Amino acid sequence: MKAAVFKQLENIVVEDVPRPVVGEREALLKVEACAVCGSDIRIFHHGNDRVKLPQIIGHEIAGRVVEVGGKVTTLKIGDRVAVGADVPCGHCAYCESGHGNNCSENYAMGYQFAGGFAEYCLLNEQVLNYGPVHKIPDHVSCEEAALAEPLGCVINGMEMVDVRLGDTVVIIGGGPIGCMMASVARLHGAAKIVVVDKNERRARASLEYGANGYIWSGEADPVEQVMKLTGGAGADVVLTACPVASTHLQAIEMAGHRARVNLFGGLPAGTTITLEPNKIHYKEMFVMGSHGSTPRQHKLALDLIASGKIDISRFITHRFPLEDIRLAFRAAEEQNGMKVIVNP
Ligand SMILES: [Zn+2]
Ligand SMILES: [Zn+2]
Repeated sequence: MKAAVFKQLENIVVEDVPRPVVGEREALLKVEACAVCGSDIRIFHHGNDRVKLPQIIGHEIAGRVVEVGGKVTTLKIGDRVAVGADVPCGHCAYCESGHGNNCSENYAMGYQFAGGFAEYCLLNEQVLNYGPVHKIPDHVSCEEAALAEPLGCVINGMEMVDVRLGDTVVIIGGGPIGCMMASVARLHGAAKIVVVDKNERRARASLEYGANGYIWSGEADPVEQVMKLTGGAGADVVLTACPVASTHLQAIEMAGHRARVNLFGGLPAGTTITLEPNKIHYKEMFVMGSHGSTPRQHKLALDLIASGKIDISRFITHRFPLEDIRLAFRAAEEQNGMKVIVNP
């Protein structure tokens, strides 16, 4: 089969590799769509401890089942399924309490397990037993269903900040994740949804995805602007959706009393920030982080897509064949659109 094999940093090669052999408790997926995630690009440039090379990366996956092992009862040939990233081990304390994205094994598609930038993708026993594998309703395309993965991660982050009716929600970062956050905040009944981005076009484009205000941080100080917008009170909810350390400080600075702040955006390992803890103390602020998603949240994302509550097709702005994976990565990095889909 054809696969984009990540051989070493900055080097990904599309070549023929053996098609996975399917064991009796496994299934094989013909990948129809695998979306490019910011973390794929981070892995491409900087690697990741959980990715041993060579490996096929890509974890926002949807496709059709073409082979099932004799002992598999949950899937049959012809089923269309969406596959998320985080695969719970199923047995540790976090998995048992329903927080499989905090699993001590931390398995994921496109990390320890070969991912979706290939013609076929193996769903091993672990993935079939505990992983985020969900059937796609007929009227939802594989491209749309692949985006249940990032939307599931957004839902995880949004569940933690508990947006309430009438809240002011500020999202720092106007990429696909930030705009999905804006869409979900709207479903929660937020009154003001403001997206901050250093790229003016991107900040403004967020208005098409659920935001009703934006701040171009290249021109105005986002903390001052949020304070002005809220009459000095600060935002009820702030989420970071970009890999920039200074935005984590800004998030705390622009949050109000009793605010919920989610440092969602991952930073390069070892990054530190200096902050004045009293700002959190006197405002009784809730500062949290979130990463990944659980199979339940992946399913919920797929349900929201299927119901039309989130118009996910509007997030798809670029498509590339597998051969052009480098172009796909470049398109995602250049930030000219939203999600980039690879069609193997
Ligand atoms: Zn992702
Ligand atoms: Zn676990």
